[in-house]
Amino acid sequence: MYFGAGLCINKDIVTTKPFLSLPELMGNKTEHIVIIGNGISGTTAARHIRKRNSSCIITIISSETKYFFSRTALMYVYMGHMKFEHTKPYEDSFWPKNRIDLVYGHVNQIDFGKKILKIDNNEEIMYDKLILALGSVPNKFGWPGQDLKGVQGLYSCQDLMLMETNTDGIEHAVVVGGGLIGIEMAEMLSSRGIKTTMLVREARFWGNILPEQESKLIERHIISHGIDLKLNHSLKEIKSNGANRVGSILTESGEVINCEFVGLTIGVRPNVDFLRGSGLEVNKGVVVNKFLETNQPNVYALGDCAEFKEAPSGRKNIEQVWYTGRMMGETLAKTITTSKTAYQPGNWFNSAKFFDIEYQTYGRVGNKLHEGESDFYWENIDGNKSLRIVYNSDSEAVIGINVFGIRLRHEVIDRWLTEKKKVKEVVGEWNNINFDPEFFKRYEKEIAHEFAEHFGISFNIKPKNWKSILNLVS
Ligand SMILES: Cc1cc2nc3c(=O)[nH]c(=O)nc-3n(C[C@H](O)[C@H](O)[C@H](O)COP(=O)(O)OP(=O)(O)OC[C@H]3O[C@@H](n4cnc5c(N)ncnc54)[C@H](O)[C@@H]3O)c2cc1C
Repeated sequence: MYFGAGLCINKDIVTTKPFLSLPELMGNKTEHIVIIGNGISGTTAARHIRKRNSSCIITIISSETKYFFSRTALMYVYMGHMKFEHTKPYEDSFWPKNRIDLVYGHVNQIDFGKKILKIDNNEEIMYDKLILALGSVPNKFGWPGQDLKGVQGLYSCQDLMLMETNTDGIEHAVVVGGGLIGIEMAEMLSSRGIKTTMLVREARFWGNILPEQESKLIERHIISHGIDLKLNHSLKEIKSNGANRVGSILTESGEVINCEFVGLTIGVRPNVDFLRGSGLEVNKGVVVNKFLETNQPNVYALGDCAEFKEAPSGRKNIEQVWYTGRMMGETLAKTITTSKTAYQPGNWFNSAKFFDIEYQTYGRVGNKLHEGESDFYWENIDGNKSLRIVYNSDSEAVIGINVFGIRLRHEVIDRWLTEKKKVKEVVGEWNNINFDPEFFKRYEKEIAHEFAEHFGISFNIKPKNWKSILNLVS
């Protein structure tokens, strides 16, 4: 049996007192905190627990890699921009220095009553507090042929290695699904000169998230990169080449596309299946309250695998993005070490990159306006940069902002959303909130002109002023 801190004790000794943790056996009350999952959520929790509590024993278990790495950087490894070891945010010496024990193994079973978990159906670990930071798994929808060689999703480091093998020397790939991971996969494949077809079931790209004009902007950009984007196309079947490997796909409309690789990027779901029936409350994810507590005492869940019973204000019950995992990790560390702290993520924010176009979204911008909302939309003449501001039709308070190909100062926009700043004030400060590097082309005149027309007023954007910028960001 494994008790953390690198100590293994013969199972027989433990069977006589199976409910004691290592600290109790050692005659003190030092807690053993076990974290399953070494992604951003689990790692942040561990780091912040250690910052606040120097005496507890912390163990992180993961079966993907021994060391934490940045999942969002996987695509750059495939594209040759970095090596896998460059995706590790911490030196390997960081972990022993901070006395965080790393265990490379898979947890198959947890006995919440006895506070014991089983690794690789063999070794057992006892915990005083358990943090589930299990992440997600890619969806598969039971298509015929989905288990053929050359068909895969993209989530883990193992998926990246598999993609390396599966795409070696191939000429044509199909990516199914039009979300953020789908477009990353299309970019990865096209970076190696592989002809890529993207099948998107909906009538427009990321149509459940983006308003129509932004969908169109990204569609044009995808096509300009040589991707064969097929909207309104659904996958029906993946066909074998006769040697147990994908040879083509068949769409619902009867089209056959020859290919040697199929990327399935139709979303992810919380990685919780092994916990069903264990006594832990599991719905789509592990159900938690605002303190990230589960229905089991001293057991918490966070990151991609957690599902809030009641979503935080203005947010969703499950949010599978990097920075929310980090925020949850910081929050939980406070609850575990000092005082019970509710998770309060504030305004929604997300950013991504669609080939060369950066995207930022703040607050609430739906794919359609809700009742009581109005919006201002501007797009540059080349159709590759845009700004949308959604505001309350009565008060003119800003509700959300989308930008494509333009960077805004996150901390300022976030604060203004909270302060319910009015749309005219926000656009008036454009030069001070725009965070594009100096040599980038500026668009303030075009934006001011369109804004004046939109409101039927005369309107000017204030000149850039470093004093104002410093005041805004401080
Ligand atoms: C290709 C890709 C690109 C992305 N790009 C972005 C982006 O640009 N911006 C953004 O905000 N988000 C992005 N995301 C999403 C983001 O990476 C995730 O939201 C985040 O990594 C989730 O962190 P986590 O700590 O909750 O889980 P994970 O990072 O998934 O970590 C969970 C770990 O737990 C391990 N584990 C699970 N179960 C067990 C078990 N039973 N035993 C042992 N180990 C176990 C898993 O193997 C995994 O290593 C991207 C995701 C992918 C796949």
